[in-house]
Amino acid sequence: MKEARRSGRRTRLDTALREQMFASATDAVNALCTWAHDEPLADFDAREERVLKIGRQLLATWLGQLASAAGPRSPACPKCGIHSLNAVRRRRKPRTVNSRCGSVHFPRMRLTCRRCGHSWLPLNSVLGMDAKQRTSGGLQHWEALLGGLTTFAEAAQLLETLAGVDVGIETLRTHAEAAGTDSKTSSARLWRTWRPPRNRRRTTHRWVMITFCSSRPMA
Ligand SMILES: [Zn+2]
Repeated sequence: MKEARRSGRRTRLDTALREQMFASATDAVNALCTWAHDEPLADFDAREERVLKIGRQLLATWLGQLASAAGPRSPACPKCGIHSLNAVRRRRKPRTVNSRCGSVHFPRMRLTCRRCGHSWLPLNSVLGMDAKQRTSGGLQHWEALLGGLTTFAEAAQLLETLAGVDVGIETLRTHAEAAGTDSKTSSARLWRTWRPPRNRRRTTHRWVMITFCSSRPMA
């Protein structure tokens, strides 16, 4: 009975996520169709630019929606194990995280256990992020890679131009230095140790990166 209730709740959450994501996709399609209607004479470059812009906005929205849907809805207190029905819920400001999909917003909840007083951020635990983390691990890796190949200012510019991701030069410097990319040797090591996300491993990607890195003229 309890299992059936949980399953029903899960289904409702899945449906809500599906509806949210479809709505965002519909907004993106509508925006593109309206633009196409208003700009019938736009050339290929203008159309490419528009698809990139709308597509990137959709990526960031989808990532926020997927991140918000993470984890069990009723986690137990990590300290004393009591079920969260007995925990006090406090809403916090939505979190903004910069990622490879752009700037992503998602609401977070801080739970405080009534029994032991422990408080925690369930979403952060599931997502594997620190409470104050503002840059995703994937984007930090990109920053470190580019920061090892060129100046920090140019690296930030490249990220903006090629990926549409806006990062501050000082933030990029911090992440690049933390990853130890202050020399071309360590940068090459970073490229070699790069791995695509799980379930998407493609040897060709990695091979291209190693080739690119090793064929780079030494400045
Ligand atoms: Zn507790």
